[in-house]
Amino acid sequence: MVDLVGLGNLVANTAYLKKSSDLLAAAEKTYESLCEQQPIGRKLFQQFLLDSKPQYAAATEFLEELNDWSFAEGETREKVKRSILTKFCQPESRSFLSYLMGEDADKCKDLSDKNFAEVTLAQIREASRNFLKGKPFSEYLKSPFFYRFLQWKELEKQKISDKYFYEFRTLGRGGFGEVCGVQVKHTGQMYACKKMDKRRLKKGGAERLALLEKQILEKVNSPFIVNLAYAYDNKTHLFLVMDLMNGGDLRFHIYELGERGMSMERVVYYTAQITTGLLHLHSMDIVYRDMKPENVLLDGKGQCQLSDFGLAVELPKGKITCQKAGTTGYMAPEILKQEYYRTSVDWWALGCSIYEMVAARLPFKDFREKVLNEEVTRRTLEDTCKFKHKHFDAATKDIIRCFLKKKVAQRLGCDGGDPRNHIFFNSINFHRLEAGLVEPPWVPKSNVIYNKDRVELRDTSEVRDIELDAKDEKFFQEFSTGAVPIRWQKEMIDSGVFDELNEPRLKGCDCDAMWE
Ligand code: ADP
Ligand code: MG
Ligand code: MG
Repeated sequence: MVDLVGLGNLVANTAYLKKSSDLLAAAEKTYESLCEQQPIGRKLFQQFLLDSKPQYAAATEFLEELNDWSFAEGETREKVKRSILTKFCQPESRSFLSYLMGEDADKCKDLSDKNFAEVTLAQIREASRNFLKGKPFSEYLKSPFFYRFLQWKELEKQKISDKYFYEFRTLGRGGFGEVCGVQVKHTGQMYACKKMDKRRLKKGGAERLALLEKQILEKVNSPFIVNLAYAYDNKTHLFLVMDLMNGGDLRFHIYELGERGMSMERVVYYTAQITTGLLHLHSMDIVYRDMKPENVLLDGKGQCQLSDFGLAVELPKGKITCQKAGTTGYMAPEILKQEYYRTSVDWWALGCSIYEMVAARLPFKDFREKVLNEEVTRRTLEDTCKFKHKHFDAATKDIIRCFLKKKVAQRLGCDGGDPRNHIFFNSINFHRLEAGLVEPPWVPKSNVIYNKDRVELRDTSEVRDIELDAKDEKFFQEFSTGAVPIRWQKEMIDSGVFDELNEPRLKGCDCDAMWE
């Protein structure tokens, strides 16, 4: 049952609203964050625009339709195109983009069936955004719509505790505790919750690592990286609440289901999603360092996400590391030789992972082969990769060879080229893939549990003698920041709670919101 009374009171109660400077982090105060990235902010800004002047409404409707057009295919695309031309490009139309000036205005008026090209539209799109960033944005900040946004931010900042969730079955085990399914009481949203025992963390010297994992997860925002929704703690544990991935990990799919390996269609699809996820991480100067099928999880629809960021590091531009980290069989030559490296190691490991998805073994280590790490290291440094398995086609062999170049400067992903342009990905439209519009080649059955009940060695050593002190508490406080804005706002919208609490619709009267 969704209890809206408590939520409703909070949103309706304006008396205690804090100043915007207390509710918004510095990075959140930009147009991009307030009106584009934060889902509730985006909705309220749009409602404001539609409610104010026809010019403002036209700008936001145009941007929406242009977005639809860029993702549409075939007949739908033609239909959207015609709609854009008649609505926004004809001076006599009510929704004509009359705010455009000079060259932009001429280009818009000249648009026709024949010259409806991506470049011209990108220019008009930019001009429209720039228009909205000016007067409309500053008017929005003084409107009741923005005031309502700040009320949502207040609610977003609430303290999170165990009581916020119902708990369900265990999904897996990690080094410091289990991962189980949870449901948010207010919204019904399901998540996975990774629990980490505070004293176990301290004993293992891993408090800092838990904090790092949380900080990296909350920073990234990609459909192909597991999203963090909440981070909180109680007396004994830290909790990371993330997207629920109930389709199992790719390792399980390679080795435990049906014939070993998987169809090429699936290999290409998953590799495309992983590649997009890695590019996103690298664009934020994050090196994943644990790329392997076991860490790629499938959701209920059959799309994949990278998970387990326990080894990831952030290396600001120019920084390098020579720290040995990773899993045997997936580690690049530069790690094994303890040379300095950055993102190159993830592309090597991706090459190993593609090989494994096809052949159900690693390029330099057979499945279940009893072999010393030193020998795997030797093979990695000296041997060339062989393709005995019948399923390797020419494009697949080529992309693996490109990722397994022992010299970093020659490796795909490090040589200046974009891996997405490789012929291996010919069948993939990355633009549509990122928008979740490409049908997964395989969909998990809802009545099957995709993991093996592995009896794991539980660390039974006593942690009772471990005492938590003020220094530990500081870590835990830094960890427990509650809801992650973008994910939380999406939950409010997807669950219908946003629409329910946003009625009756605001009217565009002026009011002094607490903006500073
Ligand atoms: P650790 O870093 O301690 O190894 P992981 O993050 O790998 O912990 O999580 C442990 C296990 O829990 C995983 O192997 C997987 O089976 C399960 N798991 C982790 N995250 C999720 C998730 N988001 N959805 C479903 N199961 C998950
Ligand atoms: Mg793990
Ligand atoms: Mg880990």
